[in-house]
Amino acid sequence: MKNLSLTQIIENIKNWTTTPEKVWEYFNTRIDKYDEKLWCYNFRNTQGLTTDTNTVLAWAPIWIKDIFCENWIPTTCGSKMLQDFKPPYDSTVITNLKNAWMSSIWKLNMDEFAMWSTSESSALNRTVNPWWTNRIPWGSSWGSAAAVAAGLCPASLGTDTGWSIRQPASVCWIVWFKPSYGRNSRYWVIPMASSLDCPGTLTRTVKDAGLLYEIMNGHDIKENTSLETKDIIDPSIWDRKDLKWVKVWIPKEYFEEWLDAWVKTTILTAIEKLKELWAEIVDISLPMTKYAVATYYILMPAEVSTNLWRIDWLRYGHVSEKTYSSMDEFYCNNRWEWFGDEAQRRIVLWSYVLSAWYYDAYYKKAWQIRTLIIEDFKKAFEKVDVIVGPASPSVAWKMWEKLDDPLKMYLSDAYTIPASLAGLPCISVPCGFAQSEDADKETLPVWLQFICAQFEDQKTLEISNVYETQTEWSKAFPTWYED
Ligand code: GLN
Repeated sequence: MKNLSLTQIIENIKNWTTTPEKVWEYFNTRIDKYDEKLWCYNFRNTQGLTTDTNTVLAWAPIWIKDIFCENWIPTTCGSKMLQDFKPPYDSTVITNLKNAWMSSIWKLNMDEFAMWSTSESSALNRTVNPWWTNRIPWGSSWGSAAAVAAGLCPASLGTDTGWSIRQPASVCWIVWFKPSYGRNSRYWVIPMASSLDCPGTLTRTVKDAGLLYEIMNGHDIKENTSLETKDIIDPSIWDRKDLKWVKVWIPKEYFEEWLDAWVKTTILTAIEKLKELWAEIVDISLPMTKYAVATYYILMPAEVSTNLWRIDWLRYGHVSEKTYSSMDEFYCNNRWEWFGDEAQRRIVLWSYVLSAWYYDAYYKKAWQIRTLIIEDFKKAFEKVDVIVGPASPSVAWKMWEKLDDPLKMYLSDAYTIPASLAGLPCISVPCGFAQSEDADKETLPVWLQFICAQFEDQKTLEISNVYETQTEWSKAFPTWYED
């Protein structure tokens, strides 16, 4: 069952080849058996199992990143600060999935408040890459990625601000989908940077991503950036077998400076496959790409520092037992003790860019550049249907390799951040292997990223589904996770 997609499991339940109880028991046994090696969950939900199979998700298990609030279920966001937090509400996307009868048993671990990228910043535990246990699964949705990759669940939810679904799913060799900003409600999803955060999915196939997307998206009156329409998928998008009349653009900016040579070769081979599928390759430029990382690392932490401000013990969080002589000292003690290093780094540095003296020079300027990046994409999508390229400059790093090098870590977001700043839908599917550039020269997964114009979520699914179904790459599975 571990190799089956979510869609196949639901089909099997509906045609009585299996039952929700058997599915539930199977995945629970697997997590008990393998989580010693992976440590990818934070909390097991003991809710009862009902067996109404005449429903959309037929009670299939979907596990949840520990950032989505669920009514009275501990939600830690990977932080000591929220270790005892039990939210009084469900987030809207969880409500939508529950209404379609998902079964959600596990809350999956993550980097603290979804910051950092390597699984090394969670206060609670850290996981390894299920394929190569000496390597990171990237982050921040690493629990969600490792669980699907190791067959501990058929699908999971994550959130993406700059790359947090995209990188972990990619290095764990599964499919991720980040819909357009505004499609999935952020209501009661603990915010990192509100103008960028996007709930999305980690699945075995593009079709599974489509299934969950259709259930999750839609208008939410409780969330003011939520789109007013619901996107219902046209089933004919899954019938397409080639890419005739699809104009694909390979931005030259995505193949410069930072990209490892081996990754580049694999991506270029995948692009040859797109040509075989009759895609027309068009050459355009995205000149603002080079400013995306700098822009993101000003805007995002400014929003982070604002969002973390509310976690001040008065409303949420822990209180330090240290004595204090002023309110300032009291707040400092609480935050010093309960926030991890990266959360503190971002609060301090970016409270500075928001300060009255530096606001114009940094924050305002970054917003202007963000507008230019959006314009860049708009111009490109007048001429092409999809942008294709790498999602990361390298394969998965070794555990602890870059822990002391935040700058290198920030730069690894270079190919995912532009689409986040513009709120575009994107997806990636496995596309081959490449050698690591370190001394070990291990062969590790590479993945192809597809980005479409804003709100063309269905086109993103359609095009990537053609590539996925016409190649063999998505069928691989880490072999040591036997049944
Ligand atoms: N690398 C990004 C960061 O640290 C990942 C954030 C995200 O997408 N949640 O900001």
